[in-house]
Amino acid sequence: MERFEGSFTQQEPISEDGIAAALAVLRHGRLHRYNTAGDEVAEAALLEEEFAAFTGARYCVAVASGGYALGCALRAVGLDRDEPVLSNAFTLAPVPGAIAAAGGRPVFVEITEDLVLDLADLEAKAKATGARLLLLSHMRGHVCDMDALMALCGRLGVTVIEDCAHTMGAEWRGVASGRHGVVGCFSTQTYKHMNSGEGGFCITDDEEVAARMVLLSGSYMLYGRHRAAPGPEVFQRIRLEVPNVSGRMDNLRAAVLRPQIGLLADRRDRWAALYRGMEAGLAGVPGLRLIPRPAEERFVGSSFQFLLPQWEEARIVAFLAACVARGVELKWFGAGDPVAFTSRYVHWRYAGAQSCPQTDRVLRGLVDMRLPLTFAPADVAQIARIIRAEALRIGQAEAVEAVAAPQVQ
Ligand SMILES: *Cc1c(COP(=O)(O)O)cnc(C)c1O
Repeated sequence: MERFEGSFTQQEPISEDGIAAALAVLRHGRLHRYNTAGDEVAEAALLEEEFAAFTGARYCVAVASGGYALGCALRAVGLDRDEPVLSNAFTLAPVPGAIAAAGGRPVFVEITEDLVLDLADLEAKAKATGARLLLLSHMRGHVCDMDALMALCGRLGVTVIEDCAHTMGAEWRGVASGRHGVVGCFSTQTYKHMNSGEGGFCITDDEEVAARMVLLSGSYMLYGRHRAAPGPEVFQRIRLEVPNVSGRMDNLRAAVLRPQIGLLADRRDRWAALYRGMEAGLAGVPGLRLIPRPAEERFVGSSFQFLLPQWEEARIVAFLAACVARGVELKWFGAGDPVAFTSRYVHWRYAGAQSCPQTDRVLRGLVDMRLPLTFAPADVAQIARIIRAEALRIGQAEAVEAVAAPQVQ
């Protein structure tokens, strides 16, 4: 029986030009973004300028993490204490965590079986709570109909902030992910699309929101050193009103990140090849549902999800164990107790008891895996063969028992 020997958590190394740039920063020692010599431009300021250009946004602020970016955006658009903030019931823990940290109250919105926000439930919850804000999570790179969403939010008077932790470089009908809402937030944590260990970005076209985010990030009165930021007159209006909530990007990580912007398009193509390979390898397995990808989106397939919709819990547990025994470590969002990053909205008790039965049903059968770029197409083909074989074996046992059951009674 074949066994997969690779690692689902091994990313590619930092490229040689990133290493050289990092060494240069270490050698001069000016790691803090506002510690510059003469008319030197900090790596962090250059990074912001280059990432703004990559996305087409007017303004960009580089920050300490993706979670920080979300909280910074919420504060910058004027979140009030205890104000409800709509967000996906299926997302990662830092999303509701950022809402709570900024003083808001997460209100979870159902997802569909295609893993995107349910727009009917969004409308119902917006009306029921009077929420003015939506923190939209493009969880695992699945993007809802952005045209319909933006039209709906326009009608409802809801401001959209996008969590693009899984959609850096993705597009919806040719518009970059993060460019629909008033702010787009990104993460450069190791498991995302650019790797600086920790880090993040906020992008926006709104000059006042941009200035607030710069001030919030902890710019002291040195905001003039930012390049992808509005002019001093905008800061002048608000600089004594906005608290400093330190969460800056530093020059070392910025140096590691700058060369990676130019690699994103190639990475997206390689991820697409891995993703399509997995999709082909798992097509037609009875009882296993793949997630359809709309023609409007251009996605970054750095992870892969499928559903086992009709499977009993014990079968899923047996299937996952059989896969792990063959080196294929799958994550399951249906476990009673969260393992690693698989916590669900019911586990985020600080948000108060909320019920999303449709999301519960979907997550009960949701299986997830990373597709790091250290995988070759042959690795993906092998992983798919193992999953297919175990799904057939365990799924067929279930079918046989279902037929046998009446005789047992
Ligand atoms: C990783 C992640 C974040 C937060 O990013 P960090 O840089 O880890 O703080 C936010 N949302 C989603 C969906 C993520 O996966």
